[in-house]
Amino acid sequence: MLDKHQGARLANLWDDGKAAGMTEPEKLLYRSNLLGSDKRITNYGGGNTSAKVMEKDPLTGEMVEVLWVKGSGGDVGTIKMDGFSTLYMDKLRALKGIYRGVEFEDEMVGYLPHCTFNLNPRAASIDTPLHAYVPKPHVDHMHPDAIIAIAASKNSRELTSKIFGDEIGWLPWKRPGYELGLWLEKFCQENPDARGVVLESHGLFTWGDTAKEAYETTIEIINRAIAWFETENTGPAFGGRSKPVLAAADRAAIAKKLMPVIRGLVSAGESKVGHFDDSQAVLDFVTSTSLEPLAALGTSCPDHFLRTKIRPLVVDFDPAQPDVGNTLAGLPEAIATYRADYAAYYERCKRADSPAMRDPNAVVYLVPGVGMITFAKDKATARISAEFYVNAINVMRGASGVSTYVGLPEQEAFDIEYWLLEEAKLQRMPKPKSLAGRIALVTGGAGGIGKATANRLMQEGACVVLADIDETALEAAQTELSTRYGKDFVRSVNMNVTSEAAVESGFGDALLAFGGLDILVSNAGLATSAAVEDTTLALWNKNMDILATGYFLVSREAFRIFRKQKAGGNVVFVASKNGLAASPGASAYCTAKAAEIHLARCLALEGASAQIRVNVVNPDAVLRGSKIWTGEWKEQRAAAYKMDVDELEAHYRERSMLKLSVFPEDIAEAIYFLASDMSAKSTGNIVNVDAGNAQSFTR
Ligand SMILES: [Zn+2]
Repeated sequence: MLDKHQGARLANLWDDGKAAGMTEPEKLLYRSNLLGSDKRITNYGGGNTSAKVMEKDPLTGEMVEVLWVKGSGGDVGTIKMDGFSTLYMDKLRALKGIYRGVEFEDEMVGYLPHCTFNLNPRAASIDTPLHAYVPKPHVDHMHPDAIIAIAASKNSRELTSKIFGDEIGWLPWKRPGYELGLWLEKFCQENPDARGVVLESHGLFTWGDTAKEAYETTIEIINRAIAWFETENTGPAFGGRSKPVLAAADRAAIAKKLMPVIRGLVSAGESKVGHFDDSQAVLDFVTSTSLEPLAALGTSCPDHFLRTKIRPLVVDFDPAQPDVGNTLAGLPEAIATYRADYAAYYERCKRADSPAMRDPNAVVYLVPGVGMITFAKDKATARISAEFYVNAINVMRGASGVSTYVGLPEQEAFDIEYWLLEEAKLQRMPKPKSLAGRIALVTGGAGGIGKATANRLMQEGACVVLADIDETALEAAQTELSTRYGKDFVRSVNMNVTSEAAVESGFGDALLAFGGLDILVSNAGLATSAAVEDTTLALWNKNMDILATGYFLVSREAFRIFRKQKAGGNVVFVASKNGLAASPGASAYCTAKAAEIHLARCLALEGASAQIRVNVVNPDAVLRGSKIWTGEWKEQRAAAYKMDVDELEAHYRERSMLKLSVFPEDIAEAIYFLASDMSAKSTGNIVNVDAGNAQSFTR
């Protein structure tokens, strides 16, 4: 997406008509959302905006100057009014009187809450002094790729003055914080006519007397940088191509082979979710002569490497002579080496009060000729990390084309990564949900039990692939679940579980979407009813195909992935009371369900040594939302009991020992239990969820 825009100018989207009736805080919100809507202007969560506004003090009733500035942890593109913190400017200025110097700058963060205006609960960010002390009413701080490319060039000061003259100043690298705020103030006092400043290895500050002027200055300055690169950076990207690009289908095939193996190797501490990106910007980089040397330098903008780790891991793969077997065999050592290097970096740079070393695994994996794989604690983080590395690639492309690209000095990078303020932010994060980082595939995922199961697993933080043959229902289920839990967490695949090819390709799509698999819920089903003498061979085979063969095929594929990941695995079969208890007039169905249950036991035995658990949930008479309970089967059952179809639910309820109806959510709860670590020591089990039925008591 980014590369499509490469070279194109940013449009000025300011609409006077829209802005006319807005208050200053509303104009700030408007400008922020406009700026953040384009990733070339700033990366996700990166940068911040502010306005100094006169407001009525709620205590004294007097008009006071208030700083409205993006609060901690937000994103300017999606921020809403409550994402801004508000602080008294006079109190912020008074902080200068208690500042003890740069070595104590972190303690200033603790004073910011004392400056809060109007009890605003939004925490002020570390960047607040940067906005407070720029003596201008409206200030933008952005991380544009084109500006960071200048800021990360060896001669960035010289380039800045060459491109912008006196209009835009330059400040050497300084970690964002109180001291940098004072630097910015001093710069503005000494350069009253400057419209902004480039921060080395970091980004851009611009300002204006009105919200519109600030916005237009930001756009204009970034456009000038883009235009300059267009004329200056005319050589081949990254010094030219040294490796071929594989065809799209081959790239996907390689990624599907690598992802579960990498995932298994890096998920020991916490389960991780993967993301694959083979966009043009990535391909240009991973086929270039500069791949290894540039990747080794690490990223520059602090925002970039906080998300991507100090540097990526370049996977040993030769697209000219693809031998993925060799690559896979080398991965354990390559990943162990990365971890050892990371630990050495931690040891070299740590300070007396540094937090303990965090996960030493790489986030970004670059595969020559194939693309980029990222792994993080959830899908959104993996996707955003990939977006950040694309930003970093754009920066390296620009900087190395006109100068020499320089990463942030190692100690500076470490001090940001292990900043106590950053650690405090991490400590404040809510505890991960019980299935965070887990990946599940649910067959029959668009139906009653399947969708309820997906919903339950997603509630616990799992990523889910819905597999079904009903396209329309599948689309509706995916829309419903992604609206509830976010697009990152759900995918769908059209899968006929009786087709070997469809099962293999569906699981392949799941691998490409999330990088692995932890949980298979085999739930696709049907139900038929006929006296044995009326049971056609076709009807018999249909039951066997879906309920026995179908369960075999999806389990076999899941086992193959589990074995590659070497991280255990979890299979839950949705069987039926009828797999244990004989029922007249449904011999094909009952026999196939019995085969299914016995298959689960065999697989439990076979998978145990690899920590693969296989369990069964036996529902009975789940009528609501079920597709097998529509049409014929319902009528056949009603006819068999000589009653109206509307009376069936009551009939089943009265038939049960507990006199309760069984709903899809009840089955989903049992599946969640078996799929989670709560049942870590159970395998080969059957849980009946049937409101009590003596016939299906296991023995
Ligand atoms: Zn910044």
